[in-house]
Amino acid sequence: MTDTLSLSSLTPPVRDAIRGALLSWFRAGHRDLPWRRSADPYRVWVAEIMLQQTRTETVREYFDRFLARFPDVAALAAAPLDDVLALWSGLGYYGRARNLHAAAREIVARYGGRFPQDAEAVAALPGVGPYTAGAIRSIALRQRAALVDGNVARVLARLFALPLRPQEADGRRALWQLAEELVPEAPEAADADNDPGDFNQALMELGATVCLPQQPRCLLCPVSEVCLARRQGDPERYPPPRPPRQVPEVDRVTLLLCQGGQVLLLRRLPAGLWGGLWEPPTGEVDPRGPHQALQRLCQEQLGAQLPVERAQPLSPFVHLLTHRRMRFQPYRLEVAAVPPLHPQGEYDQLRWLDPSRPAALGMSAWVSGLLGRLHTPRRVCDAERTT
Ligand code: SF4
Repeated sequence: MTDTLSLSSLTPPVRDAIRGALLSWFRAGHRDLPWRRSADPYRVWVAEIMLQQTRTETVREYFDRFLARFPDVAALAAAPLDDVLALWSGLGYYGRARNLHAAAREIVARYGGRFPQDAEAVAALPGVGPYTAGAIRSIALRQRAALVDGNVARVLARLFALPLRPQEADGRRALWQLAEELVPEAPEAADADNDPGDFNQALMELGATVCLPQQPRCLLCPVSEVCLARRQGDPERYPPPRPPRQVPEVDRVTLLLCQGGQVLLLRRLPAGLWGGLWEPPTGEVDPRGPHQALQRLCQEQLGAQLPVERAQPLSPFVHLLTHRRMRFQPYRLEVAAVPPLHPQGEYDQLRWLDPSRPAALGMSAWVSGLLGRLHTPRRVCDAERTT
């Protein structure tokens, strides 16, 4: 093999050498992850959705709890969305949970609860993109299907010394093409050597445990012999770093309306960021000042007038998302009685919650954190009545 290997020079012998080395290495030992203990499509699907943008160690906890509560697609389809979001709380990217739930209902309604086998049907399920479709088809259905996630993109870019950014369309296309050429045919016999699912998992495992973003462990790598980046002596050059992005900042006011030791929570409409989750009424800031912002919030989201001029500011905090930086200014307003409240605008339901007794509700991490600040000690919801 020469240092001029490129996509077009991926010859059958090179391809077979990579497949053989990776499959042998993976089968000789790999991490024992709960979702690898069975090729049940439901388990593979749930795990792959959870693993998007989320660390493996975090997913471990959530996966076991989720499978205990929803052991199969029928159980997930039968559950209210609120229950699904409650179990997803803190995992982030809540659109994944909403799509998982919608797809489970579709699988039950259209396919009698059996995971579809057809490539187009798998790809058409809500929330199933090319990566997840590749994982389900190759690992659970044993079909020849490629996948590229961040780990795989890094391994492929280094193996072939490709200066391609997986975040850009050209890079993504070339890496997918490479992955499609490399993934082996589905075997005829169940115990045959080639296996697209094992091969894809081997690529992901290599990226997660050996071909690390910094300081790759090339001495332990089963494909180091054919790796161009290693030969060039500086594997970390690949893939090139993503250019720095400007993350927009967004300011929000949030109202902790307290009555009798309880705090008001509203449920967001099902779509969009945090859709279907519970939070204190939250809205845009107003250039005229915080009281105007709170007044508008009460009118537009609760259909009510409240004595917001008595609201007390609490410490502001920041919640980071991948695509924006959210700055929250919370206010606490203690009232003895409230007029009738009508969730509207961005919300569709309300409930009062004792913050010292967390309920099984879907909440984003910033809401759990804010409520956690409320209940120790009972100061925030009760303080004003004692002064
Ligand atoms: Fe990654 Fe090093 Fe293996 Fe190349 S040799 S694939 S850089 S770990």
